[in-house]
Amino acid sequence: MAETTPSRRARAAGASSRRSVRGAPSSGRGGRGWLAGISDALVSVFFPAGCRICDELLTSASRVPICEVCLASFCPVPQIACEVCGRPLAGFVHEPGQALLCPACRDKTYAFERARSFAVYEGALVEAILLLKYEQIGPLGAWFAERLAEVVKEQGSVLAADVVVPVPLHRQRERERGYNQAALLSKPLAKRLRLPHKAVLLMRTRARPEKQILTLEERWESVRGAFATRPGSQVDNLRVLLLDDVLTTGATLDACARALLEAGAKSVVGLTVARAARNPLPSSSEW
Ligand SMILES: [Zn+2]
Ligand SMILES: [Zn+2]
Repeated sequence: MAETTPSRRARAAGASSRRSVRGAPSSGRGGRGWLAGISDALVSVFFPAGCRICDELLTSASRVPICEVCLASFCPVPQIACEVCGRPLAGFVHEPGQALLCPACRDKTYAFERARSFAVYEGALVEAILLLKYEQIGPLGAWFAERLAEVVKEQGSVLAADVVVPVPLHRQRERERGYNQAALLSKPLAKRLRLPHKAVLLMRTRARPEKQILTLEERWESVRGAFATRPGSQVDNLRVLLLDDVLTTGATLDACARALLEAGAKSVVGLTVARAARNPLPSSSEW
């Protein structure tokens, strides 16, 4: 811990000086005035950390370690998106009056009924997801859960559910990491939606391969049949809202949905914080 203090301070000091330059009032030949200086100094004393994404000094009392500017930079998924999987479809030409479906959903690829996401997986959101994934930042999970609750509200019946379930990690991975990042989202979300949270209903029975980068085939292969419901868990006739951090190919949500439906779930809808703008499914090469 002692080792981190000087660098944190240096970072905060650097952020503070940049901030003074940017925040200088137009009239201020003499700078921002002593009162502003004192208030910055106080903030630095009480909130000595910088934004974990841009390093700007954090000035709010929020426990989310990301500044307002970075949080506001997350780009919500555009309105023009696949009606089934929620994939952004800007520039996609489709027949008027027909359902707006991406190539994968036209091929009925997915076992889940619908999927929706808060924002496009790019820019600052990529870094925010990494913080959630590797640093167990609970307040950030709660912040995302608030956004996801707004998505659920906007979508109305599309995401209606009886129970909230996080996509599970393999037992061994969860033991190494100490937590499941999807549960950092699903638990506060379930609370907001006043729905039961079932953190152990699903389990991952086969671990993800060690390899960091997987080809498209490997991605699908690595999750096929890799999930099951825990023996004795009750899912019969329930509508499940499945939570994960990022939706890329949809393979993980699909594999979870298949396990839940096999166990008797009535329907499965997926919800993620981030949505990859491009789906590297082979059929997507056609446009
Ligand atoms: Zn920032
Ligand atoms: Zn789709």
